[in-house]
Amino acid sequence: MLILILASMLITPPEEPPNIVFIMSDDHAWQAISAYGSDRNVTPNIDRIAQDGITFDRYYVENSICAPSRAAILTGVFSEHHGVPTNREVFDGTQETFPVVARASGYQTALVGKWHLKSEPVGFDHYERLVGQGNYYGPRMIRNGVEVLHEGYTTDVITDLALEWLETERDESKPFVLMVQHKAPHREWMPGPDHLHDMEGVDLPEPPTLFDDYSGRGRASTMQEMTIKDHLRPMDLKLAMPEWMMRMTPEERAAWDKAYEPRNEAFRALDLAGADLIRWKYQRYAKDYLRCIASVDDSVGRILDSLESLGLDENTIVIYTSDQGWYLGEHGWYDKRWMYEESFRTPFLLRWPGVVAPGRRTELLSQNIDLAPTFLEVVGAEIPDRMQGRSLLPILESVDDAQVEDIGWRDALYYRYYESLGPHKVPKHEGVRTRRYKLMVFPELDEVELYDLKVDPDELHSLADDPGSAVVRERLEALLVELRAKYDVSEDW
Ligand code: CA
Repeated sequence: MLILILASMLITPPEEPPNIVFIMSDDHAWQAISAYGSDRNVTPNIDRIAQDGITFDRYYVENSICAPSRAAILTGVFSEHHGVPTNREVFDGTQETFPVVARASGYQTALVGKWHLKSEPVGFDHYERLVGQGNYYGPRMIRNGVEVLHEGYTTDVITDLALEWLETERDESKPFVLMVQHKAPHREWMPGPDHLHDMEGVDLPEPPTLFDDYSGRGRASTMQEMTIKDHLRPMDLKLAMPEWMMRMTPEERAAWDKAYEPRNEAFRALDLAGADLIRWKYQRYAKDYLRCIASVDDSVGRILDSLESLGLDENTIVIYTSDQGWYLGEHGWYDKRWMYEESFRTPFLLRWPGVVAPGRRTELLSQNIDLAPTFLEVVGAEIPDRMQGRSLLPILESVDDAQVEDIGWRDALYYRYYESLGPHKVPKHEGVRTRRYKLMVFPELDEVELYDLKVDPDELHSLADDPGSAVVRERLEALLVELRAKYDVSEDW
């Protein structure tokens, strides 16, 4: 009997390696996902991932802007090392990325959608990427080096192309990594035909900090140019619509005009000013943003359904994330860049039946540099020494955070934003975040901000000059020096 049991243990066939479907949108605020407690929209399909899998409540980026974050996800290293600290640099595709390494270890790799790294994608058996930022309608794409012009709404086109590859084009004999990367809900927030009339006649709740005057912070918050009040353009508000943005079919254009012309007429009749005008702009901008997200959520649903109908749902890891967080009116802003929670913190949800406990949530500190090492550990490849992130597998395999803490987890994150002279005039800064505190350093201003996130989660009152917080400040400043050394980032930049 014993021999039989031992024999059966020995001849257990190796488990089939899991597939990975990585769905990433662009600029999706965690505040705009119902699994994260949104008070302004529902995302039933993204929530399916949360119900079946794990929701990361403290997942952050290393640099809250598009191209740097994409490069960090691919390479697992900080901006200074992946060479894309701002949106201006060209990504060096000869670097070790997780698709390159996964492919070398037998995985089939595909990418569909936004790439935004200036060089052509490397490490993919198949790719079809948007040209630059991409249009919301009628996207121009590059399919394995050849230009293709599509008709239709870009979120739907990307989903169609991803499903086409998944259902009919891939090599079924190999496990795969499929990256589906949406343009939405990036500026200028153009909704798709299916959601043009969502939330009509509804007043969205305003964030409590919509009229923030930044009096409890340092000078940095007063220098930016990203307010709903002053910096949204007519195009952002759909009060103007240049033809180059459109690339719509006549039917799509007619549906668009039917939605916006009566709204714009009503707006002009109101003749708003002051706080009322800010409120109107907030409603207009936030609704269009959320309508774009509704199409992204539909896309997630279609992908989950397709995996199920192909019988792949049990052995496929599905991720939903964004390239960084976003201000949906908090502090009077749109856009990202800051180390403040709304844009530093980023949605990250993962489904992996049989491994991840359904409905699990984690508050352990994780960061976008962790994704490449995680995916490589999952596919059974060696994690290159260069990668600075840490595999999240212990979190995925545990039933609660206490179990992971027993083996030791990080207690602080490092952040650096470089693009000082870029759009929106956010001064460059770096910082550390522990579970409770956040220190931000603005070298050009010679200023420091310090927040106790436990008592001040909206970061309205900096404690940098509070005598009672001097010890905490000193400890965090020492931690900043320590993390700079750990991640080999320069003191001056
Ligand atoms: Ca982005």
